[in-house]
Amino acid sequence: MATRTPIVGGNWKMHLDRAGARDLLRELRGQLDGLAGVEVVIFPPAAWLGDAADALEGSTLRVGAQNAYWLPHGAYTGEVGAAMLVGTADYVLVGHSERRHVFGESDEDTARKLDAVLGLALQPILAVGEQQEEREGGRTAEVLRRQLDAAFADIDRLPEGFTIAYEPVWAIGTGLTATPEIAQATVAEIRRMVADRFGAASAEACRIQYGGSVNAGNVADLASQPDIDGALVGGASLDAEAFATICRAVAAAAE
Ligand code: PEP
Repeated sequence: MATRTPIVGGNWKMHLDRAGARDLLRELRGQLDGLAGVEVVIFPPAAWLGDAADALEGSTLRVGAQNAYWLPHGAYTGEVGAAMLVGTADYVLVGHSERRHVFGESDEDTARKLDAVLGLALQPILAVGEQQEEREGGRTAEVLRRQLDAAFADIDRLPEGFTIAYEPVWAIGTGLTATPEIAQATVAEIRRMVADRFGAASAEACRIQYGGSVNAGNVADLASQPDIDGALVGGASLDAEAFATICRAVAAAAE
């Protein structure tokens, strides 16, 4: 039986004004501080990262950035360097499908970001996932292997507690959750790919979340799958009750 601590991320994307963000942070702290058996990470928009760090300081909830640029500083208007997040964020999401498919970030960009985050006092969550036509065309494994190979190109050893988010693009924000069977089979396949590259022990220690239309009603079946170590949650993370229910369900599934 794996001893991986599951992890739930709440990806707020580009939602909430400052007052709304502060209210939600207060509610989440009230509901989730001290919850055992799961690591909870809140990913607010970059503008509210400082507020999140202040609001969650001294709690068990962690702060994550949704994105970061790989260079530490320079003439890169609009970017936030990963190094600038140290001391404010604990985690950085790398390779989210909206970065890849809305903003055109390549596998190589994702690798540069991953390398930058790993070189700092920050933990990455590496997101991978296939598009609908890739799944329908039987190319899911090929796409995932390409994304992982590119991201890991310069990495010899997987750091302890490393987290991958498997997020089928067709399930993100669509209400089309992968069935627990599809999610489990694909996450198990990702774990085999990690084993091929870094060895069985690293693969067994690697946390792999599922993301894609997770909500309070479907999380228990997903989280109880043997290879799934929590969830990355978009829409449902904006509702304190729903997100707290998800976190508790993930903790309960790991007991
Ligand atoms: C996400 O933003 O990573 C995500 C999975 O979104 P949603 O839960 O809304 O599908």
